[in-house]
Amino acid sequence: MPQTLTARAASLAEFLDTHRRVFVLTGAGCSTDSGIPDYRDADGSWKRTPPVTYQAFMGEARTRQRYWARSLLGWRHFGQARPNASHHALQRLEARDRLTLLVTQNVDGLHQRAGSRQVVDLHGRLDTVRCMSCEHRLPRADFQQTLDRLNPGWAQRQAGEAPDGDADLDALDFETFVVPPCPVCAGVLKPDVVFFGENVPRARVMDALQALADADAMLVVGSSLMVFSGYRFVHAAARAGKPVAAVNLGRTRADPLLSLKVEQSCAEALAFLLA
Ligand SMILES: [Zn+2]
Repeated sequence: MPQTLTARAASLAEFLDTHRRVFVLTGAGCSTDSGIPDYRDADGSWKRTPPVTYQAFMGEARTRQRYWARSLLGWRHFGQARPNASHHALQRLEARDRLTLLVTQNVDGLHQRAGSRQVVDLHGRLDTVRCMSCEHRLPRADFQQTLDRLNPGWAQRQAGEAPDGDADLDALDFETFVVPPCPVCAGVLKPDVVFFGENVPRARVMDALQALADADAMLVVGSSLMVFSGYRFVHAAARAGKPVAAVNLGRTRADPLLSLKVEQSCAEALAFLLA
């Protein structure tokens, strides 16, 4: 084992040596090195205003105007994000046939871009837009062009980037922002991601739980597990007597259930997989 490994990373290597088939859950901390900001600070509290809820998005045209105006700016940055060392390290784990499944809470598609194939996007993908009436789907990149065309000048405004391709634009007036309806049925278009206040599709959860049942252990990478949709897998692993290791800077909701906690950046903690 290389001497540069810290004691904590060494115990993670040991954990993965001991447990052959691993179920992996990743969160925002895995993508911060790709320039996608995290929602929460080290205490698990909101760093910023919580994101828009499903109910507000579906119920209020003004909320959709505000969402898409912010997203029009945020996407320029988000859509260009590239996988980082953490994504590559986890791809390597899959290539060694050590995964039962990689479940990600991230909506950026970066695991797939790094070459991972056994991936479930628990909360959907931001690169797809979906009609809530007829299920028509279109690429976010195409929708970006439509938004840009209907709202000349908006995309050139400067704003700080925020999670999920959102952007800070609070001072602006959104009433003039044009949001086109579904080109097929004129229904409401929504990013194909699970919003706060919306349930993860049941089939997706069942697939993930089956993969967890097939695993010897679970590894959490870069999630504070504050959202139940992720926490439930740790809970299920603990109930089944499977050891759980977590890499996260700061507290996680599941700290009392962990067999191993590595408080390092994801890239640092997983670096041994790329060696
Ligand atoms: Zn439609």
